[in-house]
Amino acid sequence: MKVHEYQGKEILRTYGVATPRGVACFSVDEAVAAAEQLAGKRWVVKAQIHAGGRGKGGGVRLARSVDEVRQHAQDILGMTLITHQTGPEGRLVKRLLIEEGAAIEHEYYIGMVVDRSAQKVVVMASSEGGTEIEEVAAQTPERIHKEVVDPVAGLKHEQAKDLAARIGLPDTVLDRAAEFLLGLYQAYWDTDASLAEINPLILTTDGKVLALDAKLNFDDNALFRHPKTRELRDLDEEDPNEIEASKYGLSYIALDGNIGCLVNGAGLAMATMDIIKLYGAEPANFLDVGGGATTEQVTEAFVIMLRNPNLKAILVNIFGGIMRCDVIADGLVNAAREVHLTVPLVVRLEGTNVDQGREIIANSGIEIISATTMADAAEKVVAAARGQG
Ligand code: ADP
Ligand code: MG
Repeated sequence: MKVHEYQGKEILRTYGVATPRGVACFSVDEAVAAAEQLAGKRWVVKAQIHAGGRGKGGGVRLARSVDEVRQHAQDILGMTLITHQTGPEGRLVKRLLIEEGAAIEHEYYIGMVVDRSAQKVVVMASSEGGTEIEEVAAQTPERIHKEVVDPVAGLKHEQAKDLAARIGLPDTVLDRAAEFLLGLYQAYWDTDASLAEINPLILTTDGKVLALDAKLNFDDNALFRHPKTRELRDLDEEDPNEIEASKYGLSYIALDGNIGCLVNGAGLAMATMDIIKLYGAEPANFLDVGGGATTEQVTEAFVIMLRNPNLKAILVNIFGGIMRCDVIADGLVNAAREVHLTVPLVVRLEGTNVDQGREIIANSGIEIISATTMADAAEKVVAAARGQG
């Protein structure tokens, strides 16, 4: 689960991580009131969307007067902000963060993630803050420094200080920077975060170390023990299809291709996407119906997939283990009758009672292309999508 920058900063402050003062706003009037309340001479008006690259896209603007805050707030609220992370359709801005303008001496980068091969949290730091870290990683990987954290001992002060020194923070602020990193690590650990990214972390002209941006993602599987974090969810920022799918116990993720996939089990779903690619096409979605695949679930899955204007064909790939293939075939046929299928449907069933399952499909009177192996299914669906099937 993702949260907005201002929400991330609120969490970080409770761990003693320094940030500029700021107020979240939902209207121009609130933005003006926030600027007056914060006082000072410079403010930054920041679009709050669940995507980075807002600065380049015109969603982060400096204001030198309250009038300028009003102007920027008017411009940004309601705009469709396009960044390299939003895709070409962009994201409608409904919230703002009005923040005091910081006097920046230098911008650094800090990131924390779980390194799956090390099975530990890794802290990454770089002197190249403010830019896209992917570019730094590609072009000058030696400028990214890493510390792996022992989960029992936690991040140690010396370790944090050493990392701060390696990215070139001046000696006079190393202890302060270490405290910053320890607070960030504790926040990451306690909240079951999956990503904490501070880009940029800044050194101010008067020697403060501040988080100027904050991106926190949380592990969905741990949200049950963080009810307060769950309340921060902003459904406006999520794909409505993914939200609807989750109500039916479907894990659905929209992708860019044109072949819809309906599969039971995440592993089989991944393998199905791989084999579609192997046969030269791209999946339109990831969709895992879980262990079951009831008529209701399959119907809903068809409805969601058919909303995609790019959809050219659907591949159903179901392994009947505990759930028998004949039961699944019944469900599939009922679902296909209920929704009006506008694209070719390829079905591959395997497992218990597979012959009865195939028979039900063959006798259903519905135009279904039956497949045997994974390769056969992929070949048929790719051909169908190209209008040759
Ligand atoms: P994004 O990463 O989405 O572009 P950031 O919050 O990192 O958004 O802001 C982009 C840039 O804007 C920062 O790298 C920094 O240079 C500037 N900036 C952001 N917030 C402030 C602030 N409070 N004071 C001064 N400059 C800021
Ligand atoms: Mg940033």
